[in-house]
Amino acid sequence: MKFDILTLFPEMFEAVLDKSIIGRAKEKGLLELNYIQIRDFAFNKHRSVDDYPYGGGQGMVMQAEPIFKAYESVTEDLNYKPYTVYMSPQGRTFRQSTAKRMAKKYDHVVILCGHYEGVDQRLIDEIIDEEISIGDFVLTGGEIAAMAVVDAVARLIPGVLKSEEAFSDESHYSGLLEYPQYTRPEVWHNEKVPDILLSGHHKNIENWKRKMSIENTFKKRKSMLNKARLTEEEQEFVKKLKLENK
Ligand code: SAM
Repeated sequence: MKFDILTLFPEMFEAVLDKSIIGRAKEKGLLELNYIQIRDFAFNKHRSVDDYPYGGGQGMVMQAEPIFKAYESVTEDLNYKPYTVYMSPQGRTFRQSTAKRMAKKYDHVVILCGHYEGVDQRLIDEIIDEEISIGDFVLTGGEIAAMAVVDAVARLIPGVLKSEEAFSDESHYSGLLEYPQYTRPEVWHNEKVPDILLSGHHKNIENWKRKMSIENTFKKRKSMLNKARLTEEEQEFVKKLKLENK
């Protein structure tokens, strides 16, 4: 899968996405990340890419033309339109389901990171397929948001993690939060790892994990349980948790 990221701060990505699992995915050729400096496509001698907003108002707005030229540098030799996303607090909130869809459906994604007060609307209207927000708050620029999206999507690409289990067990993938995790030592600050995890009994451990996953979701994000697929026995367990909680 390939991401082309249009940004004023390519070095921010290099510092974060060249490391660890994502860095190794790049080395293995499972993931291609290109960072395109929008300023390289500025058309004035100061290489500025922003200007005052028409109609007045706070701050500066990123001009359409340099972004469009940066976009064209990515798309000019293609015979298809890559899926093009604008990171924006006005977009639909990014979820695990968004990450799943992107990993499954698109081989090539272009991400535009805004800055200042945002981007000239005409550019958005012309090239953007989807606006994505990472939450109801406002960041200074789209870079941190884009990194979150690339990271969440990339780890779903087959081969990036060691096995599908590595992500299918995780919070949000199946509509539940994950069960609590423990590692060595067996006793830490007088607290022992639950006995069942040391029992070696695979089936019982799986049952425990599922039960704890439901309980964790009940404690932390109750509303998720309305949509989760639960067996009758699990639904009974939720009823029991509700009663205990009263
Ligand atoms: N004036 C804009 C508004 O009110 O909608 C906010 C601009 S914000 C200061 C600058 C850039 O940060 C945006 O163009 C966008 O790319 C990025 N950004 C800010 N918050 C974001 C969020 N929650 N999710 C994704 N991108 C965000």
